[in-house]
Amino acid sequence: MTSTPKIAFIGLGNMGAPMALNLLHADYPLSVYDLSPSALQILGEVGATIADSAQQAVQGADIVISMLPASRHVEQLYLGSALGTSTEVPGLVSQIQAHALIIDCSTIAALTSQKIALAAQARGLAMIDAPVSGGTLGAAAGTLTFIVGGSASDLERARPVLAAMGKNIFHAGSNGAGQTAKICNNMLLGILMAGTAEALALGVANGLDPKVLSDIMSKSSGRNWALEQYNPYPGVMENVPAARGYSGGFGVNLMHKDLGLATEAALATLAAIPLGELARNLYAMHSQNGAGAKDFSSILELFQKTSK
Ligand code: NAD
Repeated sequence: MTSTPKIAFIGLGNMGAPMALNLLHADYPLSVYDLSPSALQILGEVGATIADSAQQAVQGADIVISMLPASRHVEQLYLGSALGTSTEVPGLVSQIQAHALIIDCSTIAALTSQKIALAAQARGLAMIDAPVSGGTLGAAAGTLTFIVGGSASDLERARPVLAAMGKNIFHAGSNGAGQTAKICNNMLLGILMAGTAEALALGVANGLDPKVLSDIMSKSSGRNWALEQYNPYPGVMENVPAARGYSGGFGVNLMHKDLGLATEAALATLAAIPLGELARNLYAMHSQNGAGAKDFSSILELFQKTSK
């Protein structure tokens, strides 16, 4: 690949849309597809080619990037409807031109990622898993961390494209390893956010100002990313989901999905993850209360109800 590679981008949600925008800013020719017409329109207005289907988007693409919610979406996209869905849609693995590179940035099961990579390789395609950390702010700023699983040579092919969307690029190991590392990180994040919300709600229930308490803990041993960069208490920080009614950001149901992936990984290896399991149950209860689409920092509401 000597000339600028043509990129197809599938999945223009909270993360995918700003990532695709950064590729346009870096002058990559970009074809996009999402199930949501409004998401497509926004990218179309800034210069992306809008496709009518994922199959159309990948025609002639050198690199295919996907940013979808969960394992089933990614598996269906690449392997098609042989996997228990109702409509007969061929998987992209049979549509993408030979020698192209697939970069899946979704957070999904490592086993699903490995299965797709094998099917892709059987057709002469390369694939890496490249889940991200850094949230919607990092996606917009082009400062994401990419956690890559796959061969070193495929990572080198992807590197300039990843660098247009992110700041840190880690090679975790072979196919699926990026997903495993990402799940470990997100299990810790889910636990830290729940713990941070619990501590803030306790302080406020006992008469403390949440901003004063956040300032104190940020300079004390309880400091962590959820507290300092993504504070869950409304009014403490600007430009975080808590400042806008927990809209945008990283959904409760997506965090619950990631904690479920951690549970699956633990079951497969007899690992003990008592805090991860507790956190998964907290997000499940919160989702059942109707908060599934809110940002995950809204877990604070669960503690506000119990500590008042
Ligand atoms: P989202 O729900 O905002 O966006 C997903 C998009 O995929 C939607 O626009 C949806 O219409 C589209 N979509 C679903 N199925 C599709 C299909 N078959 N074809 C085309 N488009 C389809 O999700 P998000 O927050 O952007 O997260 C995407 C992935 O990134 C998830 O795996 C999530 O766990 C991970 N992630 C999210 C964050 C975050 O802060 N939001 C951070 C790191 C990782």
